Amino acid sequence: MNFRYKLMQFMSGRYGADALFYVLFSLSAVLAFVNIFIRSLILQIIVYLIMLVAVLRVFSRNFPARQRENIIVLSVINKIRSIRGLRRQRKADYTHIYKKCPYCKATLRLPRKKGKHTTVCPRCGKSFTVRVFR
Ligand SMILES: [Zn+2]
Repeated sequence: MNFRYKLMQFMSGRYGADALFYVLFSLSAVLAFVNIFIRSLILQIIVYLIMLVAVLRVFSRNFPARQRENIIVLSVINKIRSIRGLRRQRKADYTHIYKKCPYCKATLRLPRKKGKHTTVCPRCGKSFTVRVFR
């Protein structure tokens, strides 16, 4: 109990673990695992440096700076998740295909009909041919 109290006292006013901490920790664990096979001194130093940064962030008292770093990481994570979700949705859509307009780069949802078709982009109004193989 005494140790726990001391730990709580030590951690009060310090930043603690966040999403970036888990990203850094996972990255260093993966690199350490890879290094079992490669046995590179440079990679080992990189692993230690990443772990050091992760630990220093946990004990940091500079909350605004740590939160700014974490927000950047969270936005990247969210972007990856939304792209993944979109891909899954499009893969599940058997009745339509998704094509980019070659002129304005808008994504068009077109009916999946086998063959060569001419379509008009609703955004820029230009027409282009689309080949559907299956
Ligand atoms: Zn277009």
